[in-house]
Amino acid sequence: MSLSVRPIPILADNYAWWLRDEATGQVAVVDPGDAAAVTALLDAEGCGLDWILLTHHHADHIAGTAELVARYGARVAGAAADAHRLPPLDAALHGGDSFVLGASAAEILETPGHTLGHIAFSFPGWLFCGDTLFSLGCGRLIEGTAEDLFRSLRRIDALPGETLIACGHEYTLANGRFALTVEPDNEALRARIAEAEAQRAAGRPTVPSTLASERAANPFLRAATVATLAERRAAKDKFR
Ligand code: ZN
Ligand code: FE
Repeated sequence: MSLSVRPIPILADNYAWWLRDEATGQVAVVDPGDAAAVTALLDAEGCGLDWILLTHHHADHIAGTAELVARYGARVAGAAADAHRLPPLDAALHGGDSFVLGASAAEILETPGHTLGHIAFSFPGWLFCGDTLFSLGCGRLIEGTAEDLFRSLRRIDALPGETLIACGHEYTLANGRFALTVEPDNEALRARIAEAEAQRAAGRPTVPSTLASERAANPFLRAATVATLAERRAAKDKFR
């Protein structure tokens, strides 16, 4: 059996993610920065909410948590390291832990860089990675160093190529414009941008993408050294 997964567009450009373990019907939502759209989907699906999974403490990823806990009695899972700045946790997770949703289990990956306590949930076939890795981009280094982020990206890069990358924001086209300044002749990048343009024109999310696609097109995942990653991240911070 497997997971069913859907992106939930929230706020200006965030995605929360709905997942249901098909063997048991257990449901989780990743990063509910706003409760309204999540509630609308749960009600339309006629399902409850068993777990809320938090990748990091930023408000656009956690602000709907209290309302969803009150409404559905959901439990909350997040990084033990950030327990002091996350909503109250029922499961305080460390890297290497297993998080169980019904018959599905995720390995917890520590992915510091954007924030120090950032984690990702690695289910078979799916990675919920918050603001660590975006399609064609990566999160800003708000708390961590380029070295932290480089190690986090290597951890993600060790997953199978077919892994679906379920990230926290619809940033793909903006990221693509910067990526073209790094690798203007990268055919995989040009193809990914064309695909994303078509997806947006059709009113669809550009995510998830596959890890294989990011390996071929994402200049941050493709940075071979910490110095290159640091240089690209700094250039992206200034890019308009
Ligand atoms: Zn964030
Ligand atoms: Fe965010």
